[in-house]
Amino acid sequence: MFDISKLRVDGKVKLDEIDPQDTTEWDGDRAEAEALTVELNQRLEALQELLYAEGKHKVLFVLQAMDAGGKDGTIRHVLDGVNPSGVKVASFKAPSKKELAHDYLWRIHAHTPGTGEMVVFNRSHYEDVLIVRVLGLVPKSVWSKRYEHIANFEQLLVDEGTTIIKVMLHISKEEQRERLQDRLDKPHKNWKFDPGDLVHRERWADYMEAFEDALAKTSTKDAPWYVVPANRKWYRNLAISEILVQTLESLNMEFPPAAPDIADTVIPD
Ligand code: ATP
Ligand code: MG
Repeated sequence: MFDISKLRVDGKVKLDEIDPQDTTEWDGDRAEAEALTVELNQRLEALQELLYAEGKHKVLFVLQAMDAGGKDGTIRHVLDGVNPSGVKVASFKAPSKKELAHDYLWRIHAHTPGTGEMVVFNRSHYEDVLIVRVLGLVPKSVWSKRYEHIANFEQLLVDEGTTIIKVMLHISKEEQRERLQDRLDKPHKNWKFDPGDLVHRERWADYMEAFEDALAKTSTKDAPWYVVPANRKWYRNLAISEILVQTLESLNMEFPPAAPDIADTVIPD
C-alpha cells in the first residue's frame, strides 16, 4: 500500500532535502503504477458519486506549484473520468481591481465547495504568501500576518464540514528548465510560454523559502499539506490519486437510505 503519510508535512520542512525525482513510496515499476492509477481513478469516480449522493461532506483540494510544475496535467489525469458536473476547478490568476479592493480571502471564499461538492483550487490563497511575498507586492508587515489568517480560515471551513487536502507539486529547477524549453521548442506549446515565468525562475530560492514557511505554518491535522515529488509525472499522478482516494475513503461515506417501500414499488406503464 502507498503510505501517503510519508508525504505529509508535519512541522518544519526542508525542500532541498526532498528529491523531486523520488519514487520510493512505490515499489513497483512505471507500468504497474499507471495501471493502479487507472484503477484509483475509477474508485475516485465512485467516491465522488457517493460524496454527492450522501450530501454531507464538502471537499477542497488545493494545488500549488512553481510554473510548469504540472498543475494542469495533474487535474487532467487525476480527475479523468470523474463526473464533470460533480467537480469544479477554480483557477486563481492575478487579482482584478475589484478583487484587490477586498481582503485577499474574499475571492477565495466565494469558490469553496458546498455540500456534496468537490472543488479543486488551481493556485489559491497561498499565492498571497508566495508571489506576493517574493515580489514584495505588499509589505512584510502585511503578508507575515497571513499565515495565521489562512490557518484560521481553513479551520473555519473544516469546522463547517469541509475536508481539505493541500498538495505542493515539487519539481526541480532543472526539470522546470526542460519543461519551459519544451514550451519554446514545440509550436503547439508556444502559447503556454509566459516570459514572466523567467522572472519567477530567477527567484527560485526565495520561492522555496516562501513555500517552506507556508507549508510549516499551515499544515495541520485537519488541513494537511503533502509535498509530492513531481519530476516524474506517473509517480505524481499515482501519489495524488492515492492521497485523494485514501482521504475520501476515510470519510466512511454512505448512500442515503432508499425510499420506504421501494421493494414493492411498481413503475406504471
Ligand atoms: P501555467 O502554469 O499553465 O502557466 P498558471 O496557473 O501559471 O498556468 P497564468 O495565467 O500563467 O496561469 O498565471 C497566473 C499568475 O497569477 C501566476 O503568476 C500567479 O502567481 C498569479 N497570481 C495568482 N494569485 C495571485 C495573487 N493573489 N497575487 C498576485 N498574483 C497572483
Ligand atoms: Mg503561468
